[in-house]
Amino acid sequence: MGIPGRGLAKGLAVTLRTMTRKSVTAQYPDVQPDLPPRTRGVIGLFEENCTVCMLCARECPDWCIYIDSHKETVPPAAPGGRERSRNVLDRFAIDFALCMYCGICIEVCPFDALFWSPEFEYAETDIRELTHERDRLREWMWTVPEPPALDPAAEDPKELAAARKAADKLAAQQAAEAEAAARPEPAQDARQDTKEEGT
Ligand code: SF4
Ligand code: SF4
Repeated sequence: MGIPGRGLAKGLAVTLRTMTRKSVTAQYPDVQPDLPPRTRGVIGLFEENCTVCMLCARECPDWCIYIDSHKETVPPAAPGGRERSRNVLDRFAIDFALCMYCGICIEVCPFDALFWSPEFEYAETDIRELTHERDRLREWMWTVPEPPALDPAAEDPKELAAARKAADKLAAQQAAEAEAAARPEPAQDARQDTKEEGT
């Protein structure tokens, strides 16, 4: 059996401790909060990178990404080639009334078209206004913070290594072509000399 009044004493001790603690009330909106750089405020769309692959809409657990598109025929890249078709974005919208800010859409986008912005001041009195269409999602892109600097000790990304290799190969090929163009053509001169001696 416990000591009578122990619970009461414990409760009063907590009250006293809390009363003497410094207040940590955030003075928002008079003072803007100092948010961490990776805050999940709102999602920005960089639509130039979007290929309408639909991966984000399919993976979204809340089904709150709406995408409409149509197909367009593009002329062949080389003469004699086949015509190609590509998706053209008609609508891209996110319903932030349904979104649970899980970040799956941003993680799965293979083309870096979606980004987190720390902006959070977009409360509405009409819930329908929380569906942000592509123009508004595009505007959020200007509030996306720069990515952190790369770790100097990190390995180069695969893409960078491949691009460097291709550039080195091209430079070597161009140097070899320039060298070949600058070299005199001895075989032709010799043939010319032989011909003149014979006549
Ligand atoms: S953050 Fe999650 S819930 Fe919100 S749109 Fe992206 S995938 Fe859907
Ligand atoms: S996953 Fe990325 S590229 Fe694909 S539709 Fe979504 S935003 Fe566009």
